[in-house]
Amino acid sequence: MVHARSVENEFRFNSGRLSLDLAATVRRRASVPKDVLAVSGACGRWLRAAGLFADYPKLSSESEAQLLELREAIWRLVKGSMEGNLPDGAVAVVNDAARYPLGTPQLNSVSGTVSVISEDPFATTLSIIARDAIELVTGPLRHRVKACDQPDCAMLFVDTSPTGQRRWCSMQRCGSRAKAHTFKRRHELSPGQ
Ligand SMILES: [Zn+2]
Repeated sequence: MVHARSVENEFRFNSGRLSLDLAATVRRRASVPKDVLAVSGACGRWLRAAGLFADYPKLSSESEAQLLELREAIWRLVKGSMEGNLPDGAVAVVNDAARYPLGTPQLNSVSGTVSVISEDPFATTLSIIARDAIELVTGPLRHRVKACDQPDCAMLFVDTSPTGQRRWCSMQRCGSRAKAHTFKRRHELSPGQ
């Protein structure tokens, strides 16, 4: 359980989309980027934490590079989509990954769980993530993609709030920082209070 907890803290899954959760593994892209997948074994841990593998997959360095290439392509694709254009290079990488078949779901009558049968589970996983990105930038939610308002964060997320007023990637992280900052500024500007 200790291990599960550390994995929980290692990654964030609050962007509202699998593909954006992958893009968010580079934190603070707008200031001092930190790549949380750069740590040894982190790519496999992320795939498991994302629910894409039942066990930690052992990835070759080539596979890890493919995952990171897809991640950067997704980020460029979604950023481009927000600005009204889809960059060719990013589209090519995402299309390449999406080309692989999704695999065959097989239900287990005893456990009630589903196993996905694929000749290349890793390629299937990349395809799932890439298809999620394609669906995002072509579906109705593309107008709901935002970058976190906290200038040093800028994490991409889908605002699924009923009012469409969500400003931060997370209220606990960036929202409370912004509010504390606003309070401090008000306080500074009102020395008499
Ligand atoms: Zn943020």
